Amino acid sequence: MSTSRREFLMVGTKLLVMTAATRSALAHVLAGTPEQVDTYTAAEHWWAMVIDIEKCIGGGNCVKACKDENDVLNEPMYFRTWVERYHVNSADAEHPVVDSPNGAYDGFPEAYAEGEGKTFFVPKMCNHCVDSPCTQVCPVGATFVTVDGVVLVDKEYCIGCRYCVQACPYGCRYIDPRTHTADKCTLCYHRITKGLLPACVEVCPTGARQLADLKNPRDPVHEFLRTHPIQVLKPQMATGAKIFYNGLDGAVR
Ligand code: SF4
Repeated sequence: MSTSRREFLMVGTKLLVMTAATRSALAHVLAGTPEQVDTYTAAEHWWAMVIDIEKCIGGGNCVKACKDENDVLNEPMYFRTWVERYHVNSADAEHPVVDSPNGAYDGFPEAYAEGEGKTFFVPKMCNHCVDSPCTQVCPVGATFVTVDGVVLVDKEYCIGCRYCVQACPYGCRYIDPRTHTADKCTLCYHRITKGLLPACVEVCPTGARQLADLKNPRDPVHEFLRTHPIQVLKPQMATGAKIFYNGLDGAVR
């Protein structure tokens, strides 16, 4: 095949993919989602989450609550959220020891001894990125960003191709073996659109996780974001991540 014909076909394929994605996203926006209640206006919200590392005790309540609420497979490797423990030894601060036994579903039974270095816990989940790589690579438009800033997967469209699993820089997606479709955190969209908190936020005993509505000027998150040294995971990826961490150590990957 000549170069020009091959280039022409490649451009055509890309256009088809973009068209499918755009068409799908538009359809989602126009139709809304089945979870939304009549009084909820998506355009009035822009959802995010704040995670305060200084408050997280690694108890794993959030991991359990998420699995229960969202019918996540109760097997290792299938998590919509999980907690990692970082142990930093001052002699080798560049190479922390990281563990997450069963995603911290049962917390961290084995504790480090006192004075053995610094230990802290980092809850992880989908970052509901504004410029989400997963959305960009989906060839059928099954992954999309809602009007209120939540990245969702339409299981009816998803063909289980795994492109999004590979594209997510944070390892937040997996293929559910029951449905052969992509799965990940929805920020408990079925709850927040009814005025409820995500399950992980509701059960956290220390308030380490806070749902944030960036479009609501009365949300106390604005004051928190202004007065704390907030960071996102892997800022170099420029994904527009919307899970904002307070107290994130430079050792966190
Ligand atoms: Fe997509 Fe991963 Fe970003 Fe979530 S964290 S929106 S799955 S790229």
